Amino acid sequence: MLNLILFGPPGAGKGTQSEQLIYAYNLKHISTGDLLRAERKAGTELGIKANEYIAKGELVPDEVVVGMVRNFMKEHSSSKGFIFDGFPRTTPQAEALDNLLSEFGAKIDIVLGLEVIEDELVKRLLLRGETSGRADDQSEETIRNRFKEYQTKTLPLMDYYTKKNSYVGVNGMGEIDHIQSSLREEINKVL
Ligand code: AMP
Repeated sequence: MLNLILFGPPGAGKGTQSEQLIYAYNLKHISTGDLLRAERKAGTELGIKANEYIAKGELVPDEVVVGMVRNFMKEHSSSKGFIFDGFPRTTPQAEALDNLLSEFGAKIDIVLGLEVIEDELVKRLLLRGETSGRADDQSEETIRNRFKEYQTKTLPLMDYYTKKNSYVGVNGMGEIDHIQSSLREEINKVL
């Protein structure tokens, strides 16, 4: 199995880069943001509750996202591996992921951190908001809150994975294809 995390702040390009990586390495894409939006669209109780947090730019409680990831992984247990996008976002989520993967006899092989300066992130998110229909990309206040959540709750994971020797930072500015090549170069080193 090959399991990798695409790490980085909102707007870093995790979703865009995942799209190409899943084909290149035959992996399953797990985006907790996408899963939560699908729940909301389907009108489930989980989706409606989660949307209260999403709309404010706050993180959804750990047990909700961990449960979704567990279900997804069980449904795709024959997969050759997973790309985790937007998950984990807190230390308890990272610990839960380690436990989940150990049930598969697997581990996180590499954490790829997309590094992008904040001015560029705000620009990208507001631009995406014009076409994505995502309300949380359209309000500057919500975007700012998402960054705050990232700084306080998610950024400590860089240290968590650096200590495990699995974190690699990649320049996330510039051409999409160039960034993709940098990511593949790092993945190929751990294959
Ligand atoms: P994303 O599509 O990854 O930008 O996520 C959109 C929103 O969904 C976030 O701002 C959070 O409110 C929520 N969300 C997505 N993934 C997680 C997660 N792993 N933990 C908590 N909340 C999440």
